[in-house]
Amino acid sequence: MPHTWDPSSATPEQALQRLVEGNRRFQKATGTPSGRTWSRQLATEAQRPFAIILGCSDSRTPVEILFDEGFGDLFVVRIAGNIVAPSVVGSIEFAASQFGSRLVVVMGHTGCGAIAATVMAIETGLGPESKNIRSITDRITPHIEGLVRPEVLRPERREGLIREAVRANVLASADHLRHGSRLIEELVLAGRVAVVGAEYELETGAVHFLDSLPLTVASPQSRET
Ligand SMILES: [Zn+2]
Repeated sequence: MPHTWDPSSATPEQALQRLVEGNRRFQKATGTPSGRTWSRQLATEAQRPFAIILGCSDSRTPVEILFDEGFGDLFVVRIAGNIVAPSVVGSIEFAASQFGSRLVVVMGHTGCGAIAATVMAIETGLGPESKNIRSITDRITPHIEGLVRPEVLRPERREGLIREAVRANVLASADHLRHGSRLIEELVLAGRVAVVGAEYELETGAVHFLDSLPLTVASPQSRET
């Protein structure tokens, strides 16, 4: 299995704990700026991000900032709607296999425009005019179309619908990553990597994790490539 295995890599639980603590510091605005200072060392040392995050491109969801992390800490893929397109899977496979990162987080956020656009497309039957934008909404559609029913499209229920759809899209994307990539599936089955879903709440700055980690995660025993 092509996986750089380093016994000193953070376990999925340790990585998740670090993310939770970083998000708490961010919410309390007590983050230290030390991790955000450029250093020549960054160019000479191999990168060892402790987690891989798939997030949305939304300008209000800057991943490193909301986890209070700096250079080299997180391997981040951002794309509208945090969709799992082939090049996204490839980026995550690359990081999971090369850098020893053992936690993958798929993170959506409240008020996501890509999700709202997909709801609109399902509701009206008219997708976005651009086929490139449609390639995004088309990936989200199967994850949420079961939620879009006439009674929840009323204005007073629309916000709740979007929130539910954001979570459904995150959970389906995380599942897709676990099973749609042979490499990641093998790493998950071997207990080397865990994939979890999360939701960033624009209204509070809090990240809510939607999955709990499996209780049995193998301990690193040896280094192999
Ligand atoms: Zn978004």
